[in-house]
Amino acid sequence: MTVLGPIEPNTVGNTTTHDHIIIDFNAVLTEPIDSKDISKMDEKISIDNLGWVRFNWASSKDNLKYDDLEDACNELNHYRNSGGKTIVDVTNIGLGRDPEKLKVISSKTGINIVMGSGFYVELAQRKNYTSDGIESLFESIMKDITIGADDTSVKSGIIGEIGCSWPWTDNEKTVMEASVLAHKTTGLPLLIHPGRDQYAPLEIIEFIDRLGADLNHVVMGHIDRTIFDYSILKETAETGVYLNLDLWGHESQYYPLAPETYMPGDHERIKMIEFLIKNNFEDQILLAHDICTKHRLKKYGGHGFDHLLKRIVPWMEMRGIEDRIINKMMIKNPANMLTIQ
Ligand SMILES: [Zn+2]
Repeated sequence: MTVLGPIEPNTVGNTTTHDHIIIDFNAVLTEPIDSKDISKMDEKISIDNLGWVRFNWASSKDNLKYDDLEDACNELNHYRNSGGKTIVDVTNIGLGRDPEKLKVISSKTGINIVMGSGFYVELAQRKNYTSDGIESLFESIMKDITIGADDTSVKSGIIGEIGCSWPWTDNEKTVMEASVLAHKTTGLPLLIHPGRDQYAPLEIIEFIDRLGADLNHVVMGHIDRTIFDYSILKETAETGVYLNLDLWGHESQYYPLAPETYMPGDHERIKMIEFLIKNNFEDQILLAHDICTKHRLKKYGGHGFDHLLKRIVPWMEMRGIEDRIINKMMIKNPANMLTIQ
């Protein structure tokens, strides 16, 4: 289900499975590493402060929001010209979702856009957002899927990204229950943003499995920034969920949202993929950039939405990863995952 209506699975083509074409990500605004730089938080991005923004990317208000229609079309045109066909945009409640804008961008660029549904982390929600209980959260997600999101007729094609913090909050667990119920009722895939702890994905999987989620139709996101120990990675893969290595191109290793850990680079992501392929999990691998800041867009000197197609696919070929498997990660697995069951 795209923002322009349903399409056949065999027309999905090259897909990034977690990105944000437009977003307001100010919920994660964080103080810069050097407290003397507080005044820089209000500066517009320019070539003079771009080096600072690349390191302190969560401290620039301007960096955390982009919603210009023309800019979005320009960015997606690069993606289309590199062979890109589909983008899963998991911008949902708490991240500034704009269904009508996504519809226009899709019509203008020819890129299929699959829109998200449900709720991001508690930090991004209004106070008492779950006070009406599971029923009303469930109804809100069902409305996105069956009628249209945010009082439009544009329908969501995926439930996510459902936000989980670490430690996982009670309100977020309530949202997850409503999300699993909608996933079971509609047959739409469920895509999860886990907390930043190596065991967070397994904790969530156990929780949703008990609620009857179809684990083969669940996407565990941000695997690359969450799991560093390959035995935990293997254990997570064995549950049958899709593993989304969805931060390709994010090369700033200092991680302001979790300074006690770090953001791995693309070389580490390739090594993780090679491990998963060697252990026969190739049918569960999905890839994306999770672009959610200006500094990763081409207009602001970033890598853009075509990074996987233009640079990572050729790099994987050079490393000896078979075309057959690259095709699965870029086309076949996303098409299977997005197929409504
Ligand atoms: Zn995201």
